[in-house]
Amino acid sequence: MAGFDFHIHTKYLGCANGTMEIPAIVHECEQLGVTALAITDHLNALDKLDLHRPIRRDIEALDTDTAVYFGVELNFTGKDQGFAYSAEVRDELGFQFAIGGIHSTYLAAYDVKEMVAIQHRHHLKACADPLVDVLVHPYWFGRKQFEKNEWPWFDSMRAVPASYARELGQVAKETGTAIEINACANLENPAYSEEYVKEYVAYLAVIAEEGPRFAVGSDAHDIGRLRTIQTAWQVVKQLELTPERIWQPNCAPMVGRRGQPQTSK
Ligand SMILES: [Zn+2]
Ligand SMILES: [Zn+2]
Repeated sequence: MAGFDFHIHTKYLGCANGTMEIPAIVHECEQLGVTALAITDHLNALDKLDLHRPIRRDIEALDTDTAVYFGVELNFTGKDQGFAYSAEVRDELGFQFAIGGIHSTYLAAYDVKEMVAIQHRHHLKACADPLVDVLVHPYWFGRKQFEKNEWPWFDSMRAVPASYARELGQVAKETGTAIEINACANLENPAYSEEYVKEYVAYLAVIAEEGPRFAVGSDAHDIGRLRTIQTAWQVVKQLELTPERIWQPNCAPMVGRRGQPQTSK
């Protein structure tokens, strides 16, 4: 299967570390067999928009055959809020696609049932947004918030009802949103056990039965973590997803060879 990685961070937003410069990322991806990749740094608030300009400049300066896209990762501005994003913002910076999702529990007190319900609600909300192409890392949680509050860690996908997985798969299919298979956040996250990862792949399998497409991403924040994308590729095989079920941007890359664009929203 084609070697995609459509979720990569850089040093430019201060989220990934200094190893994540555009030419180094592309070089490492080529070593790993990646044929098309995307830089997707965070846009949590509009005052960070200008920080994306040097990313675009460095992509455009590349000399490579590898397809490189310029995307963006969106986060909800608050519980039940929208994204700091619009068609105008997209066009101003020239973002070729957007991935987005929930990055907080939005809980004041620990309640696992409520926490999972909030996640599910925001997953559906991201899918309903016509500007969001990919729902990122469903059921990823930042461990720091749990440690700080001394909450029990989210260590089992059994807390997620199968009905949520089915509804997400159906809504993703209807809206043309791809569900992400994320390496660093979910499959290769040291905070999760091997058992958890098995449960997570089983969860993805239930979603897959409803027929949506899937996107693959490493979500790497360090050059040494780009290799985790191979785990996402293995899960694609395990789920027996055919090539037309694997999402890719519906446009030519900013640099490199044009891929095989498919219908997207
Ligand atoms: Zn994220
Ligand atoms: Zn990310």
